[in-house]
Amino acid sequence: VDKIRHVVCPYCGCLCDDIMIEVTDGKISGVENACTLGAHKFLDDAGNRLKGPIMRTGDEWVDISYEEAIEFAVKVLSEADRPLLYGWSGCATETQAIGAHLAELIGGVVDSTTSVCHGPSILAIQEVGHPGCTLGQVKNRADTIIYWGSNPIEAHPRHLSRYTNYADAYFLHNAFRERRVIVVDVRKTPTAEIATEFVQLEQGGDYHVLSALRAIIRGRGDIIPDMVAGVPKTQLIRVADMCKKAKFGALFFGVGITMTGGKYKNIRNAIEFVDELNRHTKWTISPMRGHSNVYGSNEVFTWITGYPFAVDYSRGIAFYNPGETTAVDILARKEADAALIMASDPGAHFPRICCEHLAKIPTILFDPYPSATTHLCTLQIPSAVNGIDAAGTAYRMDGIPIRTRKFIETGYPTDTELMEKIYDRIRQVKENA
Ligand code: SF4
Repeated sequence: VDKIRHVVCPYCGCLCDDIMIEVTDGKISGVENACTLGAHKFLDDAGNRLKGPIMRTGDEWVDISYEEAIEFAVKVLSEADRPLLYGWSGCATETQAIGAHLAELIGGVVDSTTSVCHGPSILAIQEVGHPGCTLGQVKNRADTIIYWGSNPIEAHPRHLSRYTNYADAYFLHNAFRERRVIVVDVRKTPTAEIATEFVQLEQGGDYHVLSALRAIIRGRGDIIPDMVAGVPKTQLIRVADMCKKAKFGALFFGVGITMTGGKYKNIRNAIEFVDELNRHTKWTISPMRGHSNVYGSNEVFTWITGYPFAVDYSRGIAFYNPGETTAVDILARKEADAALIMASDPGAHFPRICCEHLAKIPTILFDPYPSATTHLCTLQIPSAVNGIDAAGTAYRMDGIPIRTRKFIETGYPTDTELMEKIYDRIRQVKENA
């Protein structure tokens, strides 16, 4: 049995880099330090992958070679009028870069899963900035944490043990006793169960509660009614007081606030709430990014195109207008005539009208495992998994780039290699046209 230390978990945006993996006869046989989600990512890997590319012909799946799969992808993408290149949150930044360049080459739209999770956070940050910090700063300094619309015990299980509630802190004597955790949510989640203070608000009441907290911190509690979106004024005053008394506070927010009524205005208000607190003490705010490298897609697309997601090259230049150039909108309008889905599962998350359209057009899926999108696609190409049998760069939820490790050899090509081939061949086709 080989024991491999300091492996990076490629599942969620925490990118825990202290995983220990046991490998027996070239297969993963044990995992230490990972949470349930991360352990399943590693342990279920063996035996669960497609053996090679599969193509839908009529009602049947036919095994084809990687060469045939690349040829099909080149033909479909080079002939399409409005190709959509979507996903990019579970692959390496190296692959994301090729995706952005490919969109420019074929006049397509490149969009990431950001558009259905933290897209509103980015719009708000573009308007009012981002007083953020690294997770290391939170771990070592923060004495007050807010989880707003986020349930890390179920979605990012080690966030609490590595960075907040259960983590040691360099600048706190007894972090576990000294740290206060405030949870704001519409229901009593498992994270709310362990909170110092649980603020239960009405669905869609985030903007109102943030505005009330801002007014209280500004010294205008007199204008607040007795109840705000289901939260008593007395509790709001208590929470505002806890926030002001913090020496270092960190607000983490999830899709429970980005994808509810108010959308990016909620986040803008949350950032301004943190700005308000920064008149009194030190506070930061950070999104709880979901997929392992979804943050990387925003970084890479911004370097290359100038925009973080939903970039449309149909005019020959990068055009960005979320709500118009986002994947769901393009599919719902039935505009896309071909799609490449990289390392994501729109079949499980998109509205039905979008899934139906994906099933009608040639859809090429890059995913090592069968997924809900398998049922919609024309061709599925399995590749090596970033962080298991492929190495690459991924961005943690706080924007820190981390190098993932390859620790077993499986013989699968990486998605970077496959995308490079597709890009080069389409460029040749365009040059010869
Ligand atoms: Fe993996 Fe996330 Fe669990 Fe860490 S918290 S082990 S990155 S799934």
